Amino acid sequence: YLHIDGIRKTFGTVIATDHVQLTIEQGEFMTFLGPSGSGKSTTLYIVAGFQDPTAGDITLRGQSILNTPSHKRNIGMVFQRYTLFPHLSVAENIAFPLRVRRMNRADIDDKVRRALALVRLDGFGDRMPARMSGGQQQRVALARALVYDPPVLLMDEPLSALDKKLREEIQHEIRRIHQETGVTILYVTHDQEEALRLSDRIAVFNQGRIEQVGTGPQLYASPATRFVADFVGDSA
Ligand code: ATP
Ligand code: MG
Repeated sequence: YLHIDGIRKTFGTVIATDHVQLTIEQGEFMTFLGPSGSGKSTTLYIVAGFQDPTAGDITLRGQSILNTPSHKRNIGMVFQRYTLFPHLSVAENIAFPLRVRRMNRADIDDKVRRALALVRLDGFGDRMPARMSGGQQQRVALARALVYDPPVLLMDEPLSALDKKLREEIQHEIRRIHQETGVTILYVTHDQEEALRLSDRIAVFNQGRIEQVGTGPQLYASPATRFVADFVGDSA
């Protein structure tokens, strides 16, 4: 469905990713797990279209998307923090991607209402982001990313700025939303427990390469390398 085909990215002499090769199935929850600097975000940004790869291709349903500009790829995105427009209300934040697509007012209102319900924030449309908690703000970001029903949702450490309790609450919400919408998710974290809790499969990154791809239990039971054994085993 979504194919990451031999992606290499260099910044001067720094090799951020090399030979990253991975196929994500439709509806799958795939997590990139790995230490800081291992190339997780770089790979995600290339899928999003924020960066061009030095070599390799990204295909969605068999078609290369590399020449499609970021805003036309229909890929939803949620990042760590500062993702909302502070001067726009919650409803206006969520409506933004629909306005860009020139949807009419009545359809926008309807979609925004449904997106708010999806993240359990019914009635919060008129609030300003600054008057909401970090967890509520991340749920608004999630609603905005999902409001136009993108086939793929990318999340780069969306919960790392939240405390443990909120993190667990939103992990639960993300799982529910994944089940309800069937959206294909690419999720980035360096938290082993979070990866095990959320994912269908996990791609373990190390030094710009994928060391192993598998379900949590597979990675535990038969780690392919010492690195995978040590890194995944950390959460035990
Ligand atoms: P973290 O968990 O800290 O977010 P990451 O796995 O997301 O790490 P990347 O951000 O993909 O790692 O970075 C991979 C490598 O590429 C690192 O060595 C980083 O310093 C380098 N890198 C990333 N972006 C740039 C850039 N714009 N210019 C130069 N080097 C970069
Ligand atoms: Mg990163």
